Amino acid sequence: MKKKQFKTESKKLLDMMINSIYTHKEIFLRELISNASDAIDKRYFRSLTDPDSGLSRSDYEISIAANEEERTLTVSDNGCGMTADELENNLGTIAKSGSLDFKSENSADNVDIIGQFGVGFYSAFMVADKVSVVSKVYGADKAYRWESEGVDGYTLEECDKDQVGTEITLHIKPDTEEEDYCEFLEPYSIQRLVKKYSDYIHYPIRMDFEVNKPVEGKEGETEKVTERRTLNSITPLWKKPAAEITEEEYNNFYSAKFMDYEPPLKVIHYKQEGAVEYTALLFIPSHAPFDYYSKSYEKGLQLYSSGVMIMDRCSDVLPDHFSFVKGLIDSSDISLNISRETLQQDYQLKTIAKAVEKKIKNELAKMMETDREKYEKFYKAFGPQLKFGVYSDYGTHKELLQDLIMFTSSNEMKYTTLKEYVSRMPGSQKSIYYACGDTAEKAMRLPQAAAVISKGYEVLLLTDDVDEFTLQTIMTYEDKKFVNVSTDELDLATEEETKKLNEENESGKELLDFIKDSVGGLNAVRFSNSLGGHPAALSSEGGMSIEMARVLSKMPDAGEGLKASLVLDINSEHAVTAKIKELYASDKDKCAKYCKLLYAQARLLSGLEIENAEEFSSLISELMI
Ligand code: ADP
Ligand code: MG
Repeated sequence: MKKKQFKTESKKLLDMMINSIYTHKEIFLRELISNASDAIDKRYFRSLTDPDSGLSRSDYEISIAANEEERTLTVSDNGCGMTADELENNLGTIAKSGSLDFKSENSADNVDIIGQFGVGFYSAFMVADKVSVVSKVYGADKAYRWESEGVDGYTLEECDKDQVGTEITLHIKPDTEEEDYCEFLEPYSIQRLVKKYSDYIHYPIRMDFEVNKPVEGKEGETEKVTERRTLNSITPLWKKPAAEITEEEYNNFYSAKFMDYEPPLKVIHYKQEGAVEYTALLFIPSHAPFDYYSKSYEKGLQLYSSGVMIMDRCSDVLPDHFSFVKGLIDSSDISLNISRETLQQDYQLKTIAKAVEKKIKNELAKMMETDREKYEKFYKAFGPQLKFGVYSDYGTHKELLQDLIMFTSSNEMKYTTLKEYVSRMPGSQKSIYYACGDTAEKAMRLPQAAAVISKGYEVLLLTDDVDEFTLQTIMTYEDKKFVNVSTDELDLATEEETKKLNEENESGKELLDFIKDSVGGLNAVRFSNSLGGHPAALSSEGGMSIEMARVLSKMPDAGEGLKASLVLDINSEHAVTAKIKELYASDKDKCAKYCKLLYAQARLLSGLEIENAEEFSSLISELMI
């Protein structure tokens, strides 16, 4: 029999199709099953106008059979079949899609046909070194066999076949060191692949399983029997109206599909009509996966096109700030991909991504309003991601996210939103105050925080590294500035008080300079009245706060110069200050030592370590003896 060459001249093209379009070899099964499903659709579609040509809807099936000895895998369908010409045209021509032709000829927009690129079939050559297609169309008495070993071309001959439809046999490649092709002959692997990619194909996909069954009446004895099983679920859960789905069904679906032992905190299930139509079934997990805050976590939603999974984790439809969301999008408007690259350019995907982002935001806002306890649980798990979302991309998403974030407030030590904080601000309060620390309690004990609180104002207590960057990115909320209490931006003093302090600083300049020189490393030393009852505290001036410098200096690429300009604030009314003034006049040596002690105290009160523990210890000892 004469071998025919493939119609595209370029064998290279076929080679490329086989080896580089698909990232995973296993998707060949999805492609063959999709083709079988399309073929049944076509036969069914024709039967609507020509009743004799069809079966009844329940007779249609896709059948898989594996023969491990012969290393063959067969996928058969009772769909429309192919004539000799069609075999030659559809399979002999790369990138020729009979399905696309069918769609345009029949203006069959309402037919859910999957194929349209005309390359899916060739994915069989990723796992098979020989593919044989036997096919028969309705009304013909002859069937034809198309056979090919890949790039060399194909043969076409007449043969026998009883039933109308197509039977595709793959001669699976021998195993190699890199690849265990025998996996594709193993019934349970096949079942897994069908579940993974083709679970919602509209026709049953069936396969025989050899199972051991107890023999009736004979205790302890078993016999091998063949059991025919349907591998796919057929109707996707998300295609059912939400009102008909129980919470348990959602939860089971979620835990099986996304491997989570805890039920989701929230299910978002909706159907979008309009320019791009799709169904989304999204879940907000109730806890962060163990690797969530690490680089290995991959965000994304599953993408389905007419019930076929075309991508397991599509990251383009989910923004980073909502990367915790699990779920899927099903849209017949997204074409079955031939590669990741084509999908990424898809306008439809962009439209979907925008809508999904908005939907998630609204659902979270609703949860915050109607079920605060649940929202706080959510926030404990994923709040850092939202805060990071505000800060990242130069604040592009701050409008979207700023009302979803919360901080612990000195007001009852409870979470508060910015909106709630502002709504409680007394008329005299100009700014939104915050203090940073390892824990909320520590932040609240900062001398400056204590001073703000004693004025009757609330302080947000920031404990995550990202927190201050988040607030600085928002910059102002309802025209209120964010003020770190440990900086020179703290503006508690009245005009009169400021005037008095300025005078004190002026007249005490000599002493203040002396303190600055004695301690070293300080940018300034100043009298302050915003320290509660504490003798001294540290603050910063200029843009970089103590907390920011601490966080930035931990970064792997932190250079020098990431230092805050430190200011030692001294409580002019404290007895210690009086003592220092006295020593300055009588004993400069001792005064210098006391200044160092005062500075050490200020560091401790501001949540910093003492720089020179040895010196501190000997100074204290001296004092004690
Ligand atoms: P696509 O599915 O994107 O059209 P394929 O390479 O998967 O491209 O298939 C090429 C063509 O071969 C299909 O469009 C269809 O016309 C035909 N074909 C493939 N498998 C079958 C089948 N099982 N039954 C009938 N026709 C088939
Ligand atoms: Mg196809």
